[in-house]
Amino acid sequence: MQHVCILGSTGSIGCSTLDVIARNPEKYSVDVLTANTNAEKLFEQCVLVKPKLVVLVDSEQALKFQRQLDKSDLDIIVKSGSKALVEAVKFSGIDTVVAAIVGAAGLLPTLSAVQQGHKVLLANKEALVMSGDLFMQAVKDNGATLLPVDSEHNAIFQCLPESDNANLTSLSGVRKILLTGSGGPFRLLPLEQLKNVTPEQACAHPNWSMGKKISVDSATMMNKGLELIEACFLFNVALEQIDIVVHPQSVVHSMVSFADGSVLAQMGKPDMRTPIAHTLAWPERIESGVEPLDFYQMTDLTFEAPDYERFPCLQLAAKAMQTGGTAPCILNAANEVAVAAFLQKQIEFTDIAKVIELTIEQIEVTEANSLACVLSADRNAREVAQALILKGIEKR
Ligand code: NAD
Ligand code: MG
Repeated sequence: MQHVCILGSTGSIGCSTLDVIARNPEKYSVDVLTANTNAEKLFEQCVLVKPKLVVLVDSEQALKFQRQLDKSDLDIIVKSGSKALVEAVKFSGIDTVVAAIVGAAGLLPTLSAVQQGHKVLLANKEALVMSGDLFMQAVKDNGATLLPVDSEHNAIFQCLPESDNANLTSLSGVRKILLTGSGGPFRLLPLEQLKNVTPEQACAHPNWSMGKKISVDSATMMNKGLELIEACFLFNVALEQIDIVVHPQSVVHSMVSFADGSVLAQMGKPDMRTPIAHTLAWPERIESGVEPLDFYQMTDLTFEAPDYERFPCLQLAAKAMQTGGTAPCILNAANEVAVAAFLQKQIEFTDIAKVIELTIEQIEVTEANSLACVLSADRNAREVAQALILKGIEKR
């Protein structure tokens, strides 16, 4: 029996995780759930899985949750605040942590899970992008097992040679990693219309159903940029060893190309329950509720090169990785601020990349060799990005 803590249980990945676990009740006990503000959904989840501890970061929502709990016969410890989040992964008996918080808010609790030496199922790519080397060093130092939930990285993990799966480092015979991405909802939109797309259009992904932030990231392809950085750190490969391949059908979730000409691909329906089930059960396999592909019904599978003019965020991310140090952290923070502003209709879609670019230009990159450096770069970038948005993005 694995004892599971889900950080961010009320989100898209959190809900999919609970769905997979519900199909395998004899294997998993969900002991800890956490959420930011959604007390209602968290309570519904508690009725079903009866955890021992919940953390609601928002204190008012935690009170609301407690009042509802008092009227029920559930016996659950309720905590609030971001410190409680970092403590949640240390709850007695927990061995598996699903890192499914969105954005930089996930860094400290996810790192805390790594420091406990847990099995960590990583969906929260921003945490790794921010703190790359520090994060991977913590995995090593604490004997944690880091398993990628992000579908592309999970696919790569599945395609890598068996012997490498244990540590994700030495890539013998691997020529390239081929990181696939759908190109999002605006792959074919006439370029001049990009400026006027709405948050609703940006969040309507053709293949995947996801939280709002990652949906916008998919529309700008910053998601692929973040994933490029994520892959460099996870698999300890240089930027030049990864090619981005646009594959609009989202059937192939990524590939690994080998020295002898072989290319291995992992395929499946675009449903996050597959990589979640894979990481939960690894190295075994369990039911996920996802139907297999029907090859008799499958339409064309197509592949093409990414359009760097349409998706400037791809270049920005590659450049940040090349620069190293705190550059990926600055990129990530500026992106989070810009995406939030776009969702609130404060800036246009095409301003997202501009905010990021201008933020990066204004901040000095330093070594990212301590958590303090990383957190300070994150804070700094947020302030600069916010100020740029307030004063109106320079029109180019
Ligand atoms: P979501 O917005 O649906 O859910 C986010 C979760 O994080 C919620 O439970 C929310 O309560 C919690 N949260 C948000 N802000 C918080 C804060 N400040 N403090 C504490 N908790 C907070 O997001 P999602 O789509 O489930 O994505 C989660 C992570 O997984 C992201 O990093 C995303 O990039 C990654 N991911 C998601 C998908 C997907 O299909 N949704 C695929 C691959 C990777
Ligand atoms: Mg992905």
